[in-house]
Amino acid sequence: MDSLFTPISHVGEFGLIDRMKAVLGSGTGNAALIASIGDDAAVYRVDDDTAHVITTDALVEGVHFDRSFMPWPHLGAKAISVNVSDVAAMNAVARYAVVSIGLPRNMSVEMVESLYVGMRDACARYGIDLVGGDTTASPQVVLSVTVVGEVELSRLVFRRGARPGDLVCVTGDVGGAYAGLQALLEQRRSIQEMGDSYTPDLDPYRYVIKRQLTPEARVDVIADWAKRGVRPRALVDVSDGVASEVHHLCRASGCGARIRGAALPIDPETRFVADEQMQDVDTYALFGGEDYELLFALDPGDEHLLDPTTFTVIGAFTEASEGVTLVTPEGPIVPLQPSGFVHFTDPGADQEEDPDA
Ligand SMILES: [Mg+2]
Repeated sequence: MDSLFTPISHVGEFGLIDRMKAVLGSGTGNAALIASIGDDAAVYRVDDDTAHVITTDALVEGVHFDRSFMPWPHLGAKAISVNVSDVAAMNAVARYAVVSIGLPRNMSVEMVESLYVGMRDACARYGIDLVGGDTTASPQVVLSVTVVGEVELSRLVFRRGARPGDLVCVTGDVGGAYAGLQALLEQRRSIQEMGDSYTPDLDPYRYVIKRQLTPEARVDVIADWAKRGVRPRALVDVSDGVASEVHHLCRASGCGARIRGAALPIDPETRFVADEQMQDVDTYALFGGEDYELLFALDPGDEHLLDPTTFTVIGAFTEASEGVTLVTPEGPIVPLQPSGFVHFTDPGADQEEDPDA
C-alpha cells in the first residue's frame, strides 16, 4: 500500500505497541529501571531489597463494557481489579491507585457516586488506597486506572524465565468470563425480540455472569505462594485468553509449549453456556479472555509445594523449535494460534496473528 498512513487495524494492538516502543527508544538509561514496556507492569528498584511496579489499564464504553448490562459499581470494581491483576502478574502486592475518568454529559452525580462505591469496595478488598486522579468530559465513559505495587526483589517474576520441561499452570478456571458475556448478550437478544413478554432468567448463569462483570484479581494466590516460599519461573495474568498468554510467556522466555486441551479447567456452567450456544467450550477457554486468572511456569520439582486445589497443570514448556501446540481433546496435535481477543482489528475480520508471539 502506497498510503503515508497505516490504519491501526493493519498492525493490530501488538504491532502498534512495537511502533510505540520504536518511537520511545531506550529512554534515559535509568539504572533503577528493571522492566519496562513488554511485561504486565513496569518495575523499578527503590532500595537494595524492594522494587515498585506500576501499571495502567483503561475501560472504554462500547469497547470494554456495555452500559445496559454493566452496573456502575461493578464497572468501578472491575477497573480496579484488572490493574491489581497486572500487579499480581509480577508477583507483587498492589498499594495505591489513581483514576482518570471521562464522563458524558448525560451521566448523573449519583451514577458517578455508584462507580466510586464500586472502586472503594474493591480497593478495600485488595487493601489499597485510591489517592487521586482527574475528571474530564468525554463522549463515552472512560475509566483509566493506574496502580502502584510493591515487591521484594527476590520475589519478582517476569514473563521471561520459563524453561523447557517446566509445567504450564493456570489458577482457577477459564472461559467463564466469555460465557458470561454470551449469556448476557443472549438475554438481551431475547428482550429485544420478545419485549415485555420476556422475563430474564439469569439464575443458570450466575457464576459466569459474575466472572464477566466482577472478576477478582488472584491476590490470594500471590499471598499463598509467598507464605509457602514458592516462586513460579514466569508469570502473566489471563486478560486476553489462555492461548494468547501462553504465547506471551513463550516469546518472552524463548520456549515453545504443548497445551493439553483436555486438561483446561472449565466450570460446568461455562460448558452449559457453550452447549446452549452450540459452540466449542475449548474455544471459550483458550481464546475467551478476561478471566484474570494467573498463568505460570512452574519447576516440576516445586509442584508438590503448592496447594493442588488452587491451580491446574495444562501442559509443559518445550524447546522453542517445537512451537506452541495444542493436544486436542480428540487426540491430534495442532498449532495453537494466539488469537484471543485482539483490539483494533476490523470487527468481523479474521483475527490476525499476534506478532508479539
Ligand atoms: Mg496482564
